[in-house]
Amino acid sequence: MILVIGEERGGTLNRATWEAIAAAQALSGGTLPITVALAGASVSAAAQELTTADVATVLVVEHPALPQYTADAWTPAFREVIEQAAPTFVVLPHTYQTRDFAPMLAARMRKALLTDVVGITGSGADARFTRPMFQGKLVAEVKPQGEAPWFVSIQIGAFRADAVTRGGAASVTTVTPNLDASTIRQKPEAPFQEAKQAVDLSQAQRIVAVGRGIKSQDNLALAEKLATAMGAELAASRPICDNGWLPMERQVGSSGQTVAPKLYIALGISGAIQHLVGMKGSRTIVAINKDADAPIFEVADYGIVGDLFELAPAITAELEKG
Ligand SMILES: Cc1cc2nc3c(=O)[nH]c(=O)nc-3n(C[C@H](O)[C@H](O)[C@H](O)COP(=O)(O)OP(=O)(O)OC[C@H]3O[C@@H](n4cnc5c(N)ncnc54)[C@H](O)[C@@H]3O)c2cc1C
Repeated sequence: MILVIGEERGGTLNRATWEAIAAAQALSGGTLPITVALAGASVSAAAQELTTADVATVLVVEHPALPQYTADAWTPAFREVIEQAAPTFVVLPHTYQTRDFAPMLAARMRKALLTDVVGITGSGADARFTRPMFQGKLVAEVKPQGEAPWFVSIQIGAFRADAVTRGGAASVTTVTPNLDASTIRQKPEAPFQEAKQAVDLSQAQRIVAVGRGIKSQDNLALAEKLATAMGAELAASRPICDNGWLPMERQVGSSGQTVAPKLYIALGISGAIQHLVGMKGSRTIVAINKDADAPIFEVADYGIVGDLFELAPAITAELEKG
């Protein structure tokens, strides 16, 4: 079986949980049954929502020490769940919370942990996993060694939440782990509140995204003109937002927004894995890059090897004629 460890906040499941379920369904290949486990406070509505997925069981992990996330509570609680369920794989969304407790959990159980997985080939115990290495410079295909269970964390955006097969008839089961509250060393503060985002790129139908190829903030005007002519939102790779040339809310990628417009035009973006996971679900991708070997061309439907400073104004001029 496959155990997915889901995540909710304030009773609402995050999208990464659905993406992890989609990954688990791909990994299962229809052979390994899937259980989704959820710990926290007031998770019954979220647990019910999970039963809409085609999974075998939804497990609510309840204990007075669990309402607020701490690594010291989550680790022994899920260790007990895993030891009882004896899954082949434990699948987690690669969130900050997972990064906090999953290494400790896997290490305590002396099991392999494959992090940041972006693709799965094959299914069941023979599956191989793709994950970026050296900050995305290389992509490795790996297979866990040693005894199961094997832990796998799924990079945000690598699988599509809307690809989850629905129509399950899962029942909700509640388990109470044996936790000693005195071993919990952390005291959680109030959850971090993200500033309300002014732009929701995830809903945009067309996006013009700029990367470091744009060279300076002044040159952004050229991309803005193209975006206006197309009725598109402006977005960017991380270095552009890190430089403060555009606000963070316009960043696309693993640490920015995940987008799926009908049309995504990438201007001077190399196509690092952290960028690709945020936009590869776009219906049509057009990449303009002067380097013919840029990885962005691997996901592009239309690739133009050329200088964005010539091409973007030329496309804008054509659109304005129309
Ligand atoms: C933990 C972590 C999280 C990250 N999260 C994100 C994220 O959310 N989003 C993100 O985007 N990145 C993210 N990154 C950074 C990522 O690894 C890359 O560094 C980044 O995406 C590169 O941005 P870029 O493509 O704009 O720049 P570069 O990689 O420098 O590419 C610039 C491209 O422009 C091309 N170019 C140059 N001049 C021209 C021209 N005149 N005409 C046409 N093309 C030209 C070049 O050929 C090159 O391919 C993250 C990294 C880490 C480690």
